[in-house]
Amino acid sequence: MGRTALPRRLPESENVHVEMGAASHVGRVRHVNEDSLLSLDAVAAVADGMGGHAAGDVASALAIQALSAGARPGRATQAAIREGIAAANQAILDEVTAHPERAGMGTTITGIALVEYAGSPHWMVFNVGDSRVYRIADGRAVQLTVDHSEVAELLALGRITAAEAVDHPLRNVVTRSLGTAPAPDVDSWIFPPEEGGDRFVVCSDGLFNELDDATIARLAHTEPVGAAASALVEAAVAAGGRDNVTVVVVAHRPAEDDELTIDTLPRRRFTA
Ligand code: MN
Repeated sequence: MGRTALPRRLPESENVHVEMGAASHVGRVRHVNEDSLLSLDAVAAVADGMGGHAAGDVASALAIQALSAGARPGRATQAAIREGIAAANQAILDEVTAHPERAGMGTTITGIALVEYAGSPHWMVFNVGDSRVYRIADGRAVQLTVDHSEVAELLALGRITAAEAVDHPLRNVVTRSLGTAPAPDVDSWIFPPEEGGDRFVVCSDGLFNELDDATIARLAHTEPVGAAASALVEAAVAAGGRDNVTVVVVAHRPAEDDELTIDTLPRRRFTA
């Protein structure tokens, strides 16, 4: 994933300063926005709901609510994220028990969190379903998550080509989602922040089904991150907006006081 070298140690965990910007739009075809998002402290997530009787929005909102319940100020933990996703799955099942007419509702969930790992801050990317997390680097958007969809599986098996996948009839069929028993496996990846900074795009399929990777990479660099999220969503809506579009842009900038910190240490010592 990217330029992998020896684990880089950042001087102080607290120096990983995370910025998030979010935007969502119903699109130009749908009447309900069934996507939900979380952009809170060090956890960013997008959930894309599905299900009859307009229950998709309920499912995605329940999932985000359950995930955010475990989020506290500062860094998250891997356990809290996993527990939040498990709680989200159960919350949807409970909702269906209480409202049987909502049977079949579910949601994807994907995101990125800054967690403590091996004594230092690391990124944890997590995914169930076909929403995505991209890393934006060197003018490229690289998908970090693996889609849980019929099309992705056919593609992996070599049964269809990437070109055929774009308009494939099974494009919207997900093979893993929240709201199922037994609970789905959650994919996750852990990696350290880049010293030079990081930028990620968390999004629902309404974004990448309308925009190519180069456009996503270009617009993701808009400043500040809130404007980047808006620019991405607006471009997807302008390109067709056939689905709900939701984006959270996450950035970590190199600590600007790195050198200062090193500089001031001896000074402080002498003036004490
Ligand atoms: Mn969607």
